Amino acid sequence: MEGLTVRLLRGSGLLRRNFLTCLSSWKIPPRVLKSSHSEALLDVTSNGLLFAPLQTLTEEEMMIKSSVKKFAEDHIAPLVSTMDENSKMEKSVIQGLFQQGLMGIEIDTKYRGTGASFFSSVLAIEELAKVDASVAVMCDVQNTITNKLISKHGTEEQKATYLPQLATEKIGSFCLSEAGAGSDSFALKTRADKKGDCYVINGSKMWITSAEYAGLFLVMANVDFSIGYKGITCFLVDRDTAGLHIGKAENKMGIRASSTCPLTFEDVKVPEANILGQIGHGYKYAIGSLNEGRIGIAAQMLGVAQGCFDYTIPYIKERIQFGQRIFDFQGLQHQVAHVATQLEAARLLTYNAARLVEAGRPFIKEASMAKYYTSEVAGLTTSKCIEWMGGVGYTKNYPVEKYFRDAKIGTIYEGASNIQLNTIAKHIDAEY
Ligand SMILES: Cc1cc2nc3c(=O)[nH]c(=O)nc-3n(C[C@H](O)[C@H](O)[C@H](O)COP(=O)(O)OP(=O)(O)OC[C@H]3O[C@@H](n4cnc5c(N)ncnc54)[C@H](O)[C@@H]3O)c2cc1C
Repeated sequence: MEGLTVRLLRGSGLLRRNFLTCLSSWKIPPRVLKSSHSEALLDVTSNGLLFAPLQTLTEEEMMIKSSVKKFAEDHIAPLVSTMDENSKMEKSVIQGLFQQGLMGIEIDTKYRGTGASFFSSVLAIEELAKVDASVAVMCDVQNTITNKLISKHGTEEQKATYLPQLATEKIGSFCLSEAGAGSDSFALKTRADKKGDCYVINGSKMWITSAEYAGLFLVMANVDFSIGYKGITCFLVDRDTAGLHIGKAENKMGIRASSTCPLTFEDVKVPEANILGQIGHGYKYAIGSLNEGRIGIAAQMLGVAQGCFDYTIPYIKERIQFGQRIFDFQGLQHQVAHVATQLEAARLLTYNAARLVEAGRPFIKEASMAKYYTSEVAGLTTSKCIEWMGGVGYTKNYPVEKYFRDAKIGTIYEGASNIQLNTIAKHIDAEY
């Protein structure tokens, strides 16, 4: 077996070690990931096929999945390590997302979007996350939250103005959380006071994904605290609006290339025409978009877990210890089988939740289950992959430790794991 010679600087001298060919470091072109395969949808009528397996995809979905896979492997993978190290998303990656039509997947073609399905967004997020979870979350927030909110609740004028921009060049950020309003997000303190035909926004937001690069902010602010959360209203705020300040990006453990910034609003004046949907309905829009958004995060976590698994298995099939492949030890095989089974279950939960959305059926419990479970599975998978790879898995020369760091966010944002469990339990309570 031909080894990849890696030089390790240790002590006073240079140590040379032979690593396995399957072990591509960050520094050389990435290996092609082998993931679970999906099948194109058979012609349901001619085949008499009534119940297709969940992994069955339409031609369009197959096409989007394979083109995103290619884009991620060719254009994103070579930059992942540097972007992680520098906590910066490369401009070429953002441009690539737009050029590939991945920032307006469900936006109607009449607004210059791709005009594809929600399931296609889920597949795109999964494929991107196999390579980089930061790029995946940028695509996720844009498609499952920002574009969705404007498409669903925007006036014709707002749609005509913003959707073409969001599909082709402008990043949108969703601004709900505040320092004192995380899981209890409707305790937000940002206020919007009516002055003539404008609203004046004052307050601050925290943890806003993509804020560094965003051109449009969907801001939840309360117009009437006397009626509690029923005063929460969604405002469309352009980046260059006077009084909007974007703070320094957080120095995070994982998804480091995804910018996460605080925002402050000092007498930010927005015209009444920039209210999205109805006054006081912001809380409904936030709940609704996060319910669907959670399926996107499930897809992100699924991609993180699968990408890490795909990278690790070839290594343990080549690495020899005690005169045999590590993969051949039954103790290890059982662990691999256990993780692979949970990965499959996570995929089915995620795909099922997405198909429920498309079918217009109730999906909230299933979306919470998918988000909760895939986050757990991503944590387990990435942790196990580090163990299976031993010392090399623990170094920054290889991507496995990054997958591990990236996985943790799944248990926190778009509703922490306990919040998902609360939602699931609430549904069970109502069902019995
Ligand atoms: C990287 C990153 C990106 C983000 N992006 C965005 C964004 O784009 N837009 C946005 O608006 N927000 C964003 N957020 C905010 C995110 O949604 C919140 O961090 C999340 O809702 C949790 O809030 P918190 O951090 O205040 O934690 P807390 O609410 O303080 O929760 C801390 C712990 O307490 C538990 N807990 C809280 N309430 C309960 C309860 N009722 N029952 C049981 N346990 C409970 C939680 O499960 C958690 O484990 C982002 C956060 C991060 C870290």
